[in-house]
Amino acid sequence: MSKLYFIPGSQDLYGEECLRQVAADCAEMVDFLNEKLNGVVEVVLMPTVETSRICVEDMRAAMNDDACVGVITWMHTFSPAKMWIKGLQILQKPLLHLHTQANEKLPYDLIDMDFMNLNQAAHGDREYGFILAKMNIPHEVVAGYYKHDHVVESIRQFAEVAKAIAFSKDLTVATFGNNMRDVAVTDGNRLEAQIKYGWEIKYWGIGEIVKLAKEATEEEVDAKMAEYLDKYIMDTDNVESVRQQAAYEIGFEKFMAKNNCEAFTDTFQDLFGMEQLPGIAAQNLMAKGIGFGPEGDYKISAFSAVLMKMAECREGATGFIEDYTYDLTPGKELELASHMLEVPASFARTQPKIQVHHLGIGGKADPARLVFDSVTGDGIQVTLIDLGDHFRIVCADIELVEVPHPMPNLPVAQIMYRHKPNFEIGTAAWCYAGGAHHSVVSTALTRDDIAMFARLTGTELITIGDDTTKADLQKFFMK
Ligand code: MN
Repeated sequence: MSKLYFIPGSQDLYGEECLRQVAADCAEMVDFLNEKLNGVVEVVLMPTVETSRICVEDMRAAMNDDACVGVITWMHTFSPAKMWIKGLQILQKPLLHLHTQANEKLPYDLIDMDFMNLNQAAHGDREYGFILAKMNIPHEVVAGYYKHDHVVESIRQFAEVAKAIAFSKDLTVATFGNNMRDVAVTDGNRLEAQIKYGWEIKYWGIGEIVKLAKEATEEEVDAKMAEYLDKYIMDTDNVESVRQQAAYEIGFEKFMAKNNCEAFTDTFQDLFGMEQLPGIAAQNLMAKGIGFGPEGDYKISAFSAVLMKMAECREGATGFIEDYTYDLTPGKELELASHMLEVPASFARTQPKIQVHHLGIGGKADPARLVFDSVTGDGIQVTLIDLGDHFRIVCADIELVEVPHPMPNLPVAQIMYRHKPNFEIGTAAWCYAGGAHHSVVSTALTRDDIAMFARLTGTELITIGDDTTKADLQKFFMK
């Protein structure tokens, strides 16, 4: 279970009794949060910071515990912020500044100076907020009484984002082959990606998978086919094609387990020794939380794995999507986002069908793939681009919709969505922002989650939604 360390702040100015009460109130708060966040994260109460030395020890403990994904701080009393400087310099994990109180209401009839000394978050949290700003430390602020639902929800959200960041810092992406030879947006600076997000992006030849797929035993392929038939409907006579995909998936799984990878890329320009482009193999792996990027797109592969991790405790679908084509009927504009093959099975609203169809790209045998209709509802589309001197996240609110008309000749999974605030502004903003044609779509995550991730990782963020206007478009490129 991942942990959040809860580090309260005070000082010794107010006497032993005050410090005992601080510890008792914090223990009650931590118990309450553990009850509410059960199954998501464990909150661990640390010694109250009364000196710089205690702060350093608390932060060292947070850094040395691999299960600790982040830190919550709260100033119950005034806690002079010079005491926090050295500890904060040690902390390299997501930080939540919880701006709260032990009491919801002021006890107007009883309040005296002892109460004021004990309960002064309005005072202490401002002193602490100043030092975070002065030291330019990325952090999230959550304000409100800790038992109120919106505060608990924000802490839960922080825990999920912090878990995703911890996952990101430990993520290895296997790239089988390089980027597609001429595609720009999939490229970038792998060193910067590792320095900023932790992604170890490692190249291997696709022959590694060819070899493992060839070595897969009949029994292993039978077991994988049983897994497919348990989840999906066989809708083809070409079982051999499906067995080939099963062997590929076995190859990917073995290779990635051995090399500790949780995301991968391939490219149809480098399928040497493969008979098909991985279709159902990639779709089924994505549904298990494995990141995937086509065309050698290591950024979207890693980012999709990170966002699937963020969403793992929530309802809804999250995964890689590729933008394709529009219906531009006035007032009813829609986008059909359906890659050649690799749409994650997690988006299925209907039970996916396994079909084998010709693929005009890549010059390989007809690949087996999953065909299904998509979930519907509010969601986000989010991408990460590398601009050379910085990364940018673009996040747009969208509405996933049912296809308005059957598409019997399109043998791939079909995802359709409506842009916000409308087609004209929403897609123009995406283009101005440099948003890629590869993205992550989620009906589980929100713009707030992405904003928190962007803030905690120090990434530029452009958001698009009902609050985006024509005036916003006019401001693009204004420095
Ligand atoms: Mn593409």
